[in-house]
Amino acid sequence: MGATPAGVKLWPGGIVPYEINADLGNIVAIKDAIKTIEQQTNVRFVARYLQDDYVRFSKQTLGNANSKTGRKGGRQFLNASLNDVGSIMHEICHTLGMLHEHQRDDRDASVIFHADRVTEDMDDYEKRDTGTKTEKYDFESLMHYNVGDVSNPIFESVAGIPSPANIGSKGALTITDKTLLEAIYPAAPVVRRTDGEGGAGAVIQASAISAMGVNNTAVVANAIVNASGKYQLVLWRIRDNGVVLRMPDPVGATGGKATDVQVVAVGRLYVSAMRNAAGKLLLISHGNNFDRLHDSAGLAGEASDVHIISISNDRVVTPCISGSGRVLSIIWQLRPDGSIERFFDSGTDGPKAKRVSSVLMQDDGSIQIAGILYTTPSSKLVLSTWKVDAGSITRLADSGEVMGKADFAQVVKADTGHVVVVCRDASSKLLLIPFNVSDDGVTITRLSGLEGRAGKIREVAAVSRPYGVLTAVISEKGHILLIKWAINADGALERLGDSGDQAGQGSQLSVTALPFATQATVCTAARDGSAKLLPITWDDVDGPGELDVV
Ligand SMILES: [Zn+2]
Repeated sequence: MGATPAGVKLWPGGIVPYEINADLGNIVAIKDAIKTIEQQTNVRFVARYLQDDYVRFSKQTLGNANSKTGRKGGRQFLNASLNDVGSIMHEICHTLGMLHEHQRDDRDASVIFHADRVTEDMDDYEKRDTGTKTEKYDFESLMHYNVGDVSNPIFESVAGIPSPANIGSKGALTITDKTLLEAIYPAAPVVRRTDGEGGAGAVIQASAISAMGVNNTAVVANAIVNASGKYQLVLWRIRDNGVVLRMPDPVGATGGKATDVQVVAVGRLYVSAMRNAAGKLLLISHGNNFDRLHDSAGLAGEASDVHIISISNDRVVTPCISGSGRVLSIIWQLRPDGSIERFFDSGTDGPKAKRVSSVLMQDDGSIQIAGILYTTPSSKLVLSTWKVDAGSITRLADSGEVMGKADFAQVVKADTGHVVVVCRDASSKLLLIPFNVSDDGVTITRLSGLEGRAGKIREVAAVSRPYGVLTAVISEKGHILLIKWAINADGALERLGDSGDQAGQGSQLSVTALPFATQATVCTAARDGSAKLLPITWDDVDGPGELDVV
């Protein structure tokens, strides 16, 4: 089996940024080697754009004769001057952190090494302090040298089998090589599909995105606060390969001054919710060509935090924090012409709160159960359930203060039926808390001990995915990072892969699923390091590497 040297540094997320020297004449072989490794492991190669740590495929040069083992930091050369794919894969495996099999510190149990028969550099034969390794020595590892002259071999097996002629690499990853790579890169990463801001310009607040298919093309609508402090709907067309193209602004794309902007798809229309310049809740509807249709004018009062979810083809709920500091949910009816009618609300006696978020938990056509997550005046999270029928919204239950203090709290409904609260906890770490909520919404049970946890973050947003939950975070260093979480049948959250080092500085991150693009499955929007709106598409499924995307 394979092995790594002790203390080797790996590539975060299994993502290896790379460049290829233009003077190499074997680019086809290099790409074949990359594709083969991507198809057989969880590692993915991405064309380097800004990453500090990256690999440069180059010709063998003195002083850079061998590929470095693992991630060295900064630019590192990879000797790609040999034409056969197996040799290039061998060098790539060094870069991924693999040690020569015959240099394992436990090799003596398996091979007899004849040092006197070595005519080349002894450094490549000496035993090294081994880190991760698997039980069995692998005579056919891609990382095992051949024996040289079989009648006077450098290596012989202790057991006599295999014979010298059968010792050494066959130019391919063995099952055991793949097992080692699986151990050190255990999860398929999230691969970035496009970069470039796409010409959206400066923003104050990046805010929410919502995806829909228009004429069989994926379109993402991005509600933002632009540099003038005004509400604006920015549209993006997403190609199947994830390339993001800015679409022309629709009629009435820009509104008045606003904060807390959000947008959702409602049937064939879009509705944005926001807090206007007067501090009041305002809804704006957009048609299926995104032209502005109507707004809610003066139908709602003061609101200090605004959320919106679509609960049917023609209704939305806007949970908000009312002028008196309580959770207030207003149900709105959207007519086919886009006019907005205030239907009913949850009354003035809602719980005291300062932040609010929501999710649709159940929908049987005539009755919906909405989950409303709010932050109490003492910053503690509470999950509550509300029943919405034809003429009323009534509170069913709440979790009590079982979650402690947190911010950036959001609630998602997973495909398993579990409800997951995603937040930044009191120690600024990412926390995912699973709940069982009965179908009727009456019982809410925290599944203690099954939480998902990660390190310190600045922000988090989340979206439900077929495998569980995808969290889009701003890391402690201020970088955009996507982390996948599986949710088991019992509700336990288990960390899967992440996006490694593929995106730079960002803030005000939001994430949405892209059901319509085949090679890009999610889209994030953020305010980038230069305060511009930055949409990025990603593949969070076990998708092909970059070279296989057309
Ligand atoms: Zn080597």
